[in-house]
Amino acid sequence: MKYYLQAFLICFLRLMIVTIPALAQDAKHYTCYRTSERILADGLLNEPDWARAEWSDDFVDITGNPGLKPLFRTRIKMLRDDGNLYLAAELQEPHIWATIHKRDAVIFKDNDFEIFLDPDGDGLNYYEIEVNALGTIWDLMLTKAYKDQGRALSSWNMKGLKTGIHISGTLNDASHPDTSWTVEMVLPLSGLMHGKKPGSCPAESVQWRANFSRVEWKTEAQGSGYHKKTDPNTGKELPEDNWVWSPMREVNMHIPERWGRLEFSDENISPVPLPFKNEKQKNGFRIWMWMGGHESWKAEQWDSVLAVFRSAGIYGILIQADPATLSTMIPIAHKYGINVQEWFITMMNNDTNLIRTHPDWFVINREGKSCIGDPAYVSYYRFLCPSNPEVHRYLKARMDEYLRIPGLDGIHLDYIRYPDVILPMALWSKYGIIQDREYAPYDYCYCKVCREKFSSQCMTDPFTMANPDSNAIWRQFRYDQLTSLVKELGDYCHGKGKELSAAVFPGPSIAKQLVRQAWDEWPLDEVMPMLYQNFYNGSLDWIRLETAEGVKSMDQPVPVYSGLYIPSLTPRELQSAIVKSVEGGASGICLFNYEAMTARHMEALREVFGK
Ligand SMILES: [Zn+2]
Repeated sequence: MKYYLQAFLICFLRLMIVTIPALAQDAKHYTCYRTSERILADGLLNEPDWARAEWSDDFVDITGNPGLKPLFRTRIKMLRDDGNLYLAAELQEPHIWATIHKRDAVIFKDNDFEIFLDPDGDGLNYYEIEVNALGTIWDLMLTKAYKDQGRALSSWNMKGLKTGIHISGTLNDASHPDTSWTVEMVLPLSGLMHGKKPGSCPAESVQWRANFSRVEWKTEAQGSGYHKKTDPNTGKELPEDNWVWSPMREVNMHIPERWGRLEFSDENISPVPLPFKNEKQKNGFRIWMWMGGHESWKAEQWDSVLAVFRSAGIYGILIQADPATLSTMIPIAHKYGINVQEWFITMMNNDTNLIRTHPDWFVINREGKSCIGDPAYVSYYRFLCPSNPEVHRYLKARMDEYLRIPGLDGIHLDYIRYPDVILPMALWSKYGIIQDREYAPYDYCYCKVCREKFSSQCMTDPFTMANPDSNAIWRQFRYDQLTSLVKELGDYCHGKGKELSAAVFPGPSIAKQLVRQAWDEWPLDEVMPMLYQNFYNGSLDWIRLETAEGVKSMDQPVPVYSGLYIPSLTPRELQSAIVKSVEGGASGICLFNYEAMTARHMEALREVFGK
């Protein structure tokens, strides 16, 4: 889990490359996902993918002045495929009216909805489309902004543009109030790719400059219809309101450099079909979540977060919390039928008091150096030795602090291992090392207890062995040290009526090779192999293979929960990873971590497991 920061930085740098600089601080951003549905421009938005697409932020006054809050809500959604861009706009409106029927007339003399698109972001040859509640279009191309002496080419018509309007209310009828009108548009990408090769469609992460606007006139009823209000002193029409998606900071839409960003994703918004044979199998598939303690949260906040967990079908939480926090949140979790285990950092230990009083409890490498003074890889890589009976007693005493808490369902062991004698391959370059075999600085434990214990069993001191890195008995000895520790901790937890689970490395073949975990022999109630495919240069199918190996290897039938690394998975890839876990025979999944979950990740779970 320590690799989280590195992966975060990689993601962050990737984003930096594609982000256009000079994006104003308050400029909006919208991600446009793929749809595989046929979207009919009828204004109804009844295609299921529209329900999955997120609404934009509500429109604001064009000046961005928060004191000029729009009277009525306006918001948009977008989708795309290889051929088209799809737009949905919803305009709340108690008085729906429109009078202009002629294409390319000046539509904003009516109340209207407007689209501004600058695909290549150079401020040249950009597009504007206006539409009123009759569905009348004014589409034009601007060679550049008016302020730069640009020309508006109204003769430009967007080939293949389809528009549908749905009116919740009655058009041009003031006798009773209306609710809203909806615009649904199909915009062929071929009509928007000026200067680009025909047929080229935006690739993953490509951003367009875009903005959306709504013109709203002040009107009053006249007879059964409406007319614009005038200033009684001048007799002139009162000025219109302009409400926009991304604020312009002045009453002028034609400053493309101040628009928002429309980002294209290659990810499909529709859910991945899941391979459950029936409802019973689906309901038995459990979701666990690793999460931090959130010690500052009050009971109300726990309640709202755990209600969301419940709605997404989450079965259990592995939480790194202090006893007071556990006492607050456990009853709330149980109210929602959610299990709680304490996420317990086992062998890694940086307690300065312990380091001072019991330096002999810590592991020593094949160079005779203690991890206290010479930790491997990072400054906090200090591990206790699993051979030491005093360490066993110490761990049980620490566990007691949690086992005493009423309602706690179990203990979840993490870092129940030696320091990595070999790092996951994708991390070698980070540390500038190649670990094609076991090298002495990373090979633990050659402490006094281990050497004496092994010598008494095998008549050899591992420290003086010719090739300790290739000695199978010495390797097995260390698997056994961890296994007997887990057995003792398991007996201890079970004796107190609590479960014991563990976060382990993949395999167990990889786990044995890298960190000496033979977890197929551990007496656990649940096992969560961390199947973080990006650390092993693996594809999503690697998750299936590793899950299957884990399920087949267990001595006793212990449920295997595939640990999934959320920062490396888009919401749709999360669904694909669930498919791979099911195919590999997993009893469920375990997500690392709550803090990396976006609303769309949660929605992706709810789509599959929602209750
Ligand atoms: Zn040792």
